[in-house]
Amino acid sequence: MSDQRIDSLTSSAYRQALEVIASVEPRIAEATRQELVDQRGSLKLIASENYASPAVLLTMGTWFSDKYAEGTVGHRFYAGCQNVDTVEALAAEHARELFGAPYAYAQPHSGIDANLVAFWSILAHRVETPALAKLGAKNVNELSEEDWESLRHELGNQRLLGMSLDAGGHLTHGFRPNISGKMFHQQQYGTDPETGLLDYDAVAAKAREFKPLVLVAGYSAYPRRVNFAKMREIADEVGATLMVDMAHFAGLVAGKVFTGDEDPVPHAHVVTTTTHKSLRGPRGGLVLAQEEYAADVDRGCPMVLGGPLSHVMAAKAVALAEARQPSFQVYAQSIADNAKSLADGFLSRGATLVTGGTDNHLVLLDVSSFGLTGRQAESALLDAGVVTNRNSVPHDANGAWYTSGVRLGTPALTTRGFGHDEFDRVAELIVHVLQNTQPGTTKDGKPSKASYTLGEGVADKVRDASAEMLDKHPLYPGIDLS
Ligand SMILES: *Cc1c(COP(=O)(O)O)cnc(C)c1O
Repeated sequence: MSDQRIDSLTSSAYRQALEVIASVEPRIAEATRQELVDQRGSLKLIASENYASPAVLLTMGTWFSDKYAEGTVGHRFYAGCQNVDTVEALAAEHARELFGAPYAYAQPHSGIDANLVAFWSILAHRVETPALAKLGAKNVNELSEEDWESLRHELGNQRLLGMSLDAGGHLTHGFRPNISGKMFHQQQYGTDPETGLLDYDAVAAKAREFKPLVLVAGYSAYPRRVNFAKMREIADEVGATLMVDMAHFAGLVAGKVFTGDEDPVPHAHVVTTTTHKSLRGPRGGLVLAQEEYAADVDRGCPMVLGGPLSHVMAAKAVALAEARQPSFQVYAQSIADNAKSLADGFLSRGATLVTGGTDNHLVLLDVSSFGLTGRQAESALLDAGVVTNRNSVPHDANGAWYTSGVRLGTPALTTRGFGHDEFDRVAELIVHVLQNTQPGTTKDGKPSKASYTLGEGVADKVRDASAEMLDKHPLYPGIDLS
């Protein structure tokens, strides 16, 4: 079908959908309409966001949404799931083909669900199954109260080694506020204090000392590639299961920007991801696994999950089919090229970047050299229509709430068609805002970590400059709601 025809179909689909919604709750139709206006009018640099295609969006709005389909393909606890079977089997097949994985599980509702499925699959495989075999039991229901108590104790006392939060790790990698930190004894590896880079020898030393059951690799705010072959060597040496959480960079793996040692799929025992970040699909999760772990991951429902979101699994299948097109590889390479242009744009204007640059999809700008906290920088940038999020930098003096950094990612604006010149200009505009932001003071005259003043006219000037680029690269050009 021609692009023009798709555009016209998409426009009428959404115009009509909003009319139907408005007949029930007009304020929701209006908020939905306004969200498109807002997204169109701002520079979205949130590293974990993107813009899914109209085909992906439309797939989510169907009658699959209230189906119950607990179980697995062809083995459901409810009747009438033949079409859900088609959907889930296709999502898994596209995921296996795209990533070259022996097994894929398409049910997790989000990244955190995917990680919980992975953790409990690893615990089942490494702890529960051997314990049952030793006791000569087929399943947990056969155990005496005493044996069950002791198995529960064993399941709850395993060790996990993951990347520290301020080095770029994720809350679900064993941190106390998250359930993962309550399930596991956790220790962390960080980055080299001089270079900000992962130090594999230090990770190996920590692993030898701590002997984790699970070694987690993957990150949300580390601007560099990871050598997963080396992480696997470390895991093997200490008998750990290597789990890689590629939530942020799955698009770069799918698009063959990360290959060889940088592709986690052949090296990890279990890989988890979200589907809505650089992969550009619906909000959801996936688990990929080596054969050895497949049967355990397949028990994600009922182990961790209830009924799958069938409408979202359908949208995952559509997004994964898109990611298998050659054009997705071009997109993924542009994400990385654009991140480099953004980083170079900052460096050439004297700004400080954690690790001194990037070779993935994100840059971590250290705003302390502007005399600002991450919170002040994030707010001033938002005033100027630049949407970012504040983020800790390694050994952050301002803690996890105020922070000293701003994280910026290229997947979303790359989807809009931004290239080298635009990203250089984006760096220029951000530096302009930060240079013209003054930290405020608290009521008792102390330096504030939150308040700030932005120079007069700066926000308008930056909004005008952004509008020029945004108009040149419209978001959802096919959707005309007027
Ligand atoms: C975003 C992210 C998650 C969580 O994803 P949700 O879908 O928000 O639950 C998990 N791990 C990493 C590394 C992430 O970046």
